[in-house]
Amino acid sequence: MFMAVESTLPTPVRTPASEKDAKALQFIEEMTKNVDSVQERVLREILGRNAETEYLKRFSLNGATDRETFKSRIPVVTYEDIQPEIQRIANGDKSPIFSVHPISEFLTSSGTSAGERKLMPTIHEELDRRQLLYSLLMPVMNLYVPGLDKGKGLYFLFVKAETKTPGGLLARPVLTSYYNSDHFKTRPYDPFNVYTSPNEAILCVDSFQSMYAQMLCGLIMRDEVRRVGAVFASGLLRAIHFLQNNWKQLAHDIATGTLNPKITDAPVRECMRKILKPNPELAQLVTIECYEENWECIIKRIWPRTKYLDVIVTGAMAQYIPTLEYYSGCLPMACTMYASSECYFGLNLNPMCKPSEVTYTIMPNMAYFEFLPHGSSTSCLVDLADVEVSKEYELILTTYAGLCRYRVGDILRVTGFHNAAPQFRFIRRKNVLLSIESDKTDEAELQNAIENASLLLKEFNTSVVEYTSYADTKQIPGHYVIYWELLVKDSAIAPADDVLNRCCLQMEESLNSVYRQSRVADNSIGPLEIRVVENGTFEELMDYAISRGASINQYKVPRCVSFTPIMELLNSRVVSKHFSPDLPHWTPERRR
Ligand code: AMP
Repeated sequence: MFMAVESTLPTPVRTPASEKDAKALQFIEEMTKNVDSVQERVLREILGRNAETEYLKRFSLNGATDRETFKSRIPVVTYEDIQPEIQRIANGDKSPIFSVHPISEFLTSSGTSAGERKLMPTIHEELDRRQLLYSLLMPVMNLYVPGLDKGKGLYFLFVKAETKTPGGLLARPVLTSYYNSDHFKTRPYDPFNVYTSPNEAILCVDSFQSMYAQMLCGLIMRDEVRRVGAVFASGLLRAIHFLQNNWKQLAHDIATGTLNPKITDAPVRECMRKILKPNPELAQLVTIECYEENWECIIKRIWPRTKYLDVIVTGAMAQYIPTLEYYSGCLPMACTMYASSECYFGLNLNPMCKPSEVTYTIMPNMAYFEFLPHGSSTSCLVDLADVEVSKEYELILTTYAGLCRYRVGDILRVTGFHNAAPQFRFIRRKNVLLSIESDKTDEAELQNAIENASLLLKEFNTSVVEYTSYADTKQIPGHYVIYWELLVKDSAIAPADDVLNRCCLQMEESLNSVYRQSRVADNSIGPLEIRVVENGTFEELMDYAISRGASINQYKVPRCVSFTPIMELLNSRVVSKHFSPDLPHWTPERRR
């Protein structure tokens, strides 16, 4: 019999699907009821084991493990504050700087510092913590969606290129680390968690071959598919776009039982050989559905038994909700978890809710969490159990791997509680102006890119008077649009089209490595576009803002726009459009 779960979970429709699920739900209940004591224990454990680290000794913690001493002695830091120590570890210093446990690898965050991904030190046991959070997702989902053990999940999961630091440690994204771990590769069979994608396809570093094999498997197993997903909404849309571009070849492979010769990766070929059998009927079905110009509801048409989409559509991903609704015929979208390279934070206990209502419950066993009330000084941090409903906070983290009072940069709003555990709405990431997928471009980076590009205009006696930007995600892949108002001092030598095209590329060269990797390796961001607008356009923009109540004295040109009337105004003043003619430079190696 199942263990009885004295459940305060939000109106689950069913009882736990298995004894294993009941245990997981019980665990969630225990953690969320005892938030404060679990947090106290976690801090004690972290400080106790790391007492002899250089970092804690530097602040004379003297072995103390209580919150009061910790808060009074340890400063709140940003990545830049601890970068010298991180660089030492990267260069091969094996002394216990942040953690007495050896640093097993670096996780490369999509957040950047000076143009390169931030390097997050991690320790081996963190994999267990990540695995633990993953193990809680399906038990919650099974409460809301019955029968997921009767079919499979079509998940588009990818690894990215790995690199090594000068000291020899691996540096790779957290999901690349997880998919390459035994935790993932040799996971025990779980009928609720069967994927259509074979490990060989997920672990293929070539993004085209990986996507091709995963899509092919998804099509072959179409009748079994019960849920379709990717980590982020942008990834799922990329998969749909891929199908648009490749369905003919995919249908050919299915019809003939042969594999596209562009798939050269030996493990992928070998595993596809076992899966692929001639199936002209299925090939015809795929052809009929994809041949149609209208791709509305394509997900439901090709995978008719899909019950929901498993994708994150909160935060920057919310921009993709309408497009996903279009392609899926309004299937529910489940945002199941909230995580980062630094730490996996928590999960959504009501995963079938509307995207606008998603809240994440931070699990107090994952790390020690503090919260900086929005706009307050760093002396006012609040504990996880003490945050207040409807207030906004910045998340501060102390991890087992040794990050101490680290500013993640996420702004969260408390919406309520599950037992004693606060539930948070993801509001935004600090300082992010433009984002298409995992790229995060801030105002300073955009400014720097504009300055570099405008150097090309100098010889034409032309300068950029004003600019703003827009993340255009109407088409897949999305791309950055930069609006420029130019001052052409001598129209006889005004910059020609090819100069402005090169300005686009120059801007791309100046953007951070996550952006350039998405452009080059993943093809998940399209060429950057510059739209030159008529002289006086930005003054009109100001007039418009003032007519809506902005103060003339305090008016600043918005460096990113999305409000429809402003977009309409800008677009109606466009005199020419220019696109990056080439790919920017990118290799897995870091520039610094
Ligand atoms: P990374 O360090 O590259 O893994 O990126 C982690 C960041 O992605 C987080 O700090 C958030 O800003 C964002 N993120 C992760 N999960 C979610 C989510 N469920 N909703 C919104 N943003 C998220």
